[in-house]
Amino acid sequence: MSLLPSLNQWQGCLAGVLVGDCLGFPYEVIRFKKMFPHTIEFIEDDLEKIKIRQMIPYVRRVKKTPTKPAKGARVTSTPTLATTSGSGETCSERQYTDDTSMTITFAKFLTESNDSLDYVDLARSFSAEFIVDVPKSRGYGPGVKKLLTKFDEVNFKNVFQYATETFKGQGSMGNGSGMRISPVALYTLNDPDRFRLVDITIDSCRLTHTHPEGIFGGIFQALAVRQALLFGAKKDKPSAIEFLDAFETEFKSVLSSKATSKRVAAYQSGYQIYQDKIDVIKKFLKGGPSSWSLQKIKEELGNKVVSSKSIPTALFCFLASFQEIDFIHTDNHFQRAITLAFALGGDTDTIGGMTGAICGAYVGLDDFPENFVQSCEASGKILNVAEQLYRKCNNSTEV
Ligand SMILES: [Mg+2]
Repeated sequence: MSLLPSLNQWQGCLAGVLVGDCLGFPYEVIRFKKMFPHTIEFIEDDLEKIKIRQMIPYVRRVKKTPTKPAKGARVTSTPTLATTSGSGETCSERQYTDDTSMTITFAKFLTESNDSLDYVDLARSFSAEFIVDVPKSRGYGPGVKKLLTKFDEVNFKNVFQYATETFKGQGSMGNGSGMRISPVALYTLNDPDRFRLVDITIDSCRLTHTHPEGIFGGIFQALAVRQALLFGAKKDKPSAIEFLDAFETEFKSVLSSKATSKRVAAYQSGYQIYQDKIDVIKKFLKGGPSSWSLQKIKEELGNKVVSSKSIPTALFCFLASFQEIDFIHTDNHFQRAITLAFALGGDTDTIGGMTGAICGAYVGLDDFPENFVQSCEASGKILNVAEQLYRKCNNSTEV
C-alpha cells in the first residue's frame, strides 16, 4: 500500500543534506584531522555528544575579503564581513558548506520559478550566493569557484559555454552535480512526466559539470532520492535489495526509454561506470555485512570527489544501514547511515550530505536523532525552504 510522500519526508530530505554536510565537514578538513580523527569510536562519540548538545567546538577560518553587492537575485545568506581578528571564529553550531548552500539556492529557485525554468537565473542565483558567502569559506571546489565568478564577470551571458571548456574540454566529473540535486527529485515528484527529473538534472548540471560521468552522477542521485521518497511513503517497507532492484530498473530506463534516450545520448559514455557500481552494491548487499568492510567500500565504491567514486557510495551507505552493522552502535537508520559515510573518510561532507538526502527522504525528519538538525547552522532556513517547495508542488496549505 502506498501513501503520498509527506512534508516530514520532504523536510527530512533537505535536512538530511544539511546534517550530513555540517556533521561530516570537520572529518573532511585536513587541519581538523587531530581534532576529528576518522575512527569509528570517535565518530560515534561525536554524534552522541551532539544529541546532548555537547559539541566539540572548532575554529573555522574566516577570510577578510569583503563581500560585494552581487548582481543576482535570491541571495539566501545574510551578507557578512569577516571577524575583526581575521583569523577565525569559534563555531557553536556545525557550519554548512557548498553542498548545503547550493541545495538551498536550488530549492529556492525551484520554489520561486514558474514552470519554464530559466537556467540563466539559476546561474545568477548560484553565483550571487557564492559571492556573498566568500568570507565564510564554504569549501567550494576551485573549478566551481572559477565558473561562478566568471558568470558574474560576463554578466551571465552564454552560461552553458564555460563548463564545457573546463578540464581541457572534458568537463568536470566532480560530485557537485549530485550534492545539490535533491530539490529536483522533490520538485518533479508529482510531475506527470516522470522523466522531467532527467531534463532538469541535465540542464542544471550543464552549468558546472558537463562530463558524462558528472551528468549521470546527477541523474543517479536524483533518482535515488525520488525512490527514497516513494518507498519511504509505503506502508510495507522494502528490503534493501528490493529497493536496489527497483532503483536499477529506473536507472536503466533512462537509457532505454524513448522519452529520455535522445536526451542522454550525448552523455551515454557516462552510464556504464554507474551500472558497474550498482553491481558492486548488489554484491555487498547480497553477501551481507560480512562481505564488505570500510576498506572494501573505499576500494570498490570510492570516497573521492569524483562523481562515480562517491555518489553510488552514498546509496550504499543508506542501503547497508537497513540492517544492523556490528561496528556501529545505534538503532537509528539515519544515524547509522551517516556514521558509515563519515567513517569512510575522504569527501565526508558531500558523501554524508548525499547519504543524508536519500535517508532523510526515506525515514522523514521525525526519525532524525535528537538535536542533529538543531546543531547545524541554518537549520530553520532549510526546513522552511523545504516546506515552501512542498506547498508549491503539492498545492497545499496543510501539513
Ligand atoms: Mg562541501
